Amino acid sequence: MNMIDKPKKAGPGKRGMIFAEPTIFERGAPGRQGYSLPEDEIPAADPAKEIDAALLRHEAPLLPEVSELDVVRHFTRLSQWNYSIDTGLTPLGSCTMKYNPKVNEEVARMSGFVKLHPQAPVADIQGALELMFHLQHYLAVISGMDAATLQPAAGAQGEFAGLLMIRAHHAAQGNPRKKILIPDSAHGTNPASAAACGYKVVTLKTGPDGVLSADAVAAAMDEETAGIMITNPNTLGLFETHMAEIAKLVHDKGGLVYCDGANQNALVGMARVGDMGVDVLHFNLHKTFTTPHGGGGPGSGAVAVKKVLEPYLPVPTVVRRGEHFDWDYDRPKSIGKVKAFFGNFGMLVRAYTYIREMGAEGLRQVSQRAVLNANYVRKSLEADFHLAYPQVCMHECVFSDKIQKKFGVTTADIAKRMMDYGYHPPTIYFPLVVPGALMVETTETESPQTLDRFIKAMKEIARECREEPETVKAAPHVPKVRRLDEVKAAKEPKFVYVPKNP
Ligand SMILES: *Cc1c(COP(=O)(O)O)cnc(C)c1O
Repeated sequence: MNMIDKPKKAGPGKRGMIFAEPTIFERGAPGRQGYSLPEDEIPAADPAKEIDAALLRHEAPLLPEVSELDVVRHFTRLSQWNYSIDTGLTPLGSCTMKYNPKVNEEVARMSGFVKLHPQAPVADIQGALELMFHLQHYLAVISGMDAATLQPAAGAQGEFAGLLMIRAHHAAQGNPRKKILIPDSAHGTNPASAAACGYKVVTLKTGPDGVLSADAVAAAMDEETAGIMITNPNTLGLFETHMAEIAKLVHDKGGLVYCDGANQNALVGMARVGDMGVDVLHFNLHKTFTTPHGGGGPGSGAVAVKKVLEPYLPVPTVVRRGEHFDWDYDRPKSIGKVKAFFGNFGMLVRAYTYIREMGAEGLRQVSQRAVLNANYVRKSLEADFHLAYPQVCMHECVFSDKIQKKFGVTTADIAKRMMDYGYHPPTIYFPLVVPGALMVETTETESPQTLDRFIKAMKEIARECREEPETVKAAPHVPKVRRLDEVKAAKEPKFVYVPKNP
């Protein structure tokens, strides 16, 4: 339902049956209820007698007074306003918004998985343990590492756990060291995680070709540096070509190499970071391995390590003892627990299902097609939007507003205008090393037809920037709301709606 031909008009069925939904407090009427139950035979207790007066409220809570139908319509309509990967292309760079196959959901909802209690005895959860054991193993094999933990709930938490292991390793040698090297193209979570682990961040400048040079690392690496955190492919969508050389420089000074592997969409089945000298990396199962992502829901930042860090993995790990699977808590050097129970188990079932469904050859094709799609978009739009680094990219490419700025149009305007064409805006103003960045990751799950429609829309927007920039600067025109005051929304959030006539 995108509006390439007539962008200024609403698309088919877009307006007529979409309702201007009020807040739930504006629905309903005083005294209206969502249920009716028979009179309770047991007399109600007097709260004043049962509960400390200081704890009792003096006014009725501000709750909406609505019927069941009011509630159902309200939330169903709101859900229909949602834009998601199930409704259209979401080209968010560094987020891997790929389609999540429905078979994952089918398997995750099997009652044997969904009804498990996390404290059930080991003998009753052999299937779940077996699944986790194999998933740990698959992730280690895919990345060329020796062992893995599935506990962290997000990429950033995986980074934190990985750095704690690096710290524990150095501490065991007698000195936890003070610094971590991080290139300026890193994801913002990297310096944050290093700081949270008590390390001082030393920022390394990306070279003119968009990759980190071995010289930059050699100049900064010393014996007070615990290691380097490097994203490969980096956030410019480029492969870090000097990875092996950089790893050697770091190892020679006793440091360790952390790889941010949140986005493995260009590497799975093609290259293993373990072969490039990496000692520890986290995966985002909610990116590469198709578990639901976004909205801050449960994720999984599984971490794989080389032998040198294996003793420090969080407890418990899942092990095989003969025919049986078991938790291993007997790990004296472990950094401890990083998440309640064993991580977000439902996500592990989905990622396992995906890996089994794809197989080795399927995963290889994921990378090949993700890279092909990204380069198709890059080549198709290179005359319309400036590319900070014009070379072949990996799974994503980074444009900028350098051309459009001449017409007074910015990246933010272009992003807003994309909504009029039926596309979710991409990641913008990130990575920071590209001014006015517009980072596009279409992933392998989009068909050539979808990509062509997207490219056509982007070309049309580029034309508008030249010929009618005012249209772009006033965008969006079609969605329910126009430009929002994002600063006000962030600084003065409205948590509670106070009804006008309570
Ligand atoms: C998404 C991402 C992260 C953070 O992952 P969360 O699950 O959001 O914490 C870290 N690094 C890179 C490169 C990412 O793309």
